[in-house]
Amino acid sequence: MKNSEPEKKVLAGLPLPELIELLAPLPAFRAKQIFKWISRGALAFGEMTDLDKNLREDLDSRFSVRSSSVGAQLEDPGHNGKAGDGTVKLQISLYGGTKIEAVLLSDAEERKTACISTQAGCPAGCVFCKTGSLGFSRNLNSAEIVEQFLHLKALAAAANTDISNIVIMGMGEPLLNLSELRRALAFLCDAEGLGISRRRITVSTCGVIEGIRDLADKGPHIRLACSLTSARQELRNRLMPIGKANPLPLLKKALAAYRQKSGQRITLEAVLLGGINTTPADAEAMIDFARGLDAVINLIPWNPVEGMGFEGEPLREPSRAEVETFTAMLEKGGLKVTRRYRKGRGVAGACGQLGVLPENPGQGRLKHPDAKAEDSPENVYPL
Ligand code: SF4
Repeated sequence: MKNSEPEKKVLAGLPLPELIELLAPLPAFRAKQIFKWISRGALAFGEMTDLDKNLREDLDSRFSVRSSSVGAQLEDPGHNGKAGDGTVKLQISLYGGTKIEAVLLSDAEERKTACISTQAGCPAGCVFCKTGSLGFSRNLNSAEIVEQFLHLKALAAAANTDISNIVIMGMGEPLLNLSELRRALAFLCDAEGLGISRRRITVSTCGVIEGIRDLADKGPHIRLACSLTSARQELRNRLMPIGKANPLPLLKKALAAYRQKSGQRITLEAVLLGGINTTPADAEAMIDFARGLDAVINLIPWNPVEGMGFEGEPLREPSRAEVETFTAMLEKGGLKVTRRYRKGRGVAGACGQLGVLPENPGQGRLKHPDAKAEDSPENVYPL
């Protein structure tokens, strides 16, 4: 048995048809009861009070409900006298000791979005991304993907709120782990359980053509965001090495097929890097790439990660003028442009920062998972 697999089969994250099959000859309605309990956040079979005691004990001897636990919780402390932006990052321990991160984001209306990971580390190696710099450890299974959502949902519930959207934009390239992602989505969207609408789920890819085509053909047709960052092939290859095997003309065709088959509007994302990809030539290439795709362009000013560089020079954030000029050029070219709020930087939980452990108190409070709101000092991990 691999050390990434617990001894007892884990039931969280199993799509309902698989759960029914696994628990047979138990009647399907019993499997549905168990599925509902897991979807509602049950941690142990003992909580499933509409099952009789013998059945609960039998299940407990053969299966586990969950496979992961929250190792630490990091909240944005705010800075310069301003309150934090409401972002909370969880460090989650998986079976076998692997650690991953998941983030709960808050918008101005206090709506919560769960940002979850699909891999431990990432093989794509985008030069501007901390996760990419960590290298690749392994794919997450369906349980490990779903459980991130369940941990974040419990966190939101403790604050009397719920999660309205999911973005699969955490650690890893989701379309390089498509079969487990599909099983996780089947769990999350099942009307017998959480019943999350596909329109509230966005998967972000760095442009894996085979995965986009597979999703277009077989679904599920969730919202798709593609991180383009540069529409100049030569520059994209240097910033995102995965671009070499996924050339822009074929990527565009795959995105057009997804748009057509899913009926969903695509988002093209661009991480803006100061002095690198915000020239008029970059804007022209992006306008050209987006032509005919009916896409929204989401610009993400790079979130700093110390020590990260590109071809011998340190990376830097784009200046306000660079962002504004680039935005204006795209809009003049007829594109619809949005800019992503810089949420989560206080806990190194913003786009491209996952995998950054806090090194000084200014980067956030790392709380013991059992800590109460009032945080006694012994409940705060030393930083
Ligand atoms: S940006 Fe996404 S695909 Fe690229 S290295 Fe980071 S996690 Fe992987």
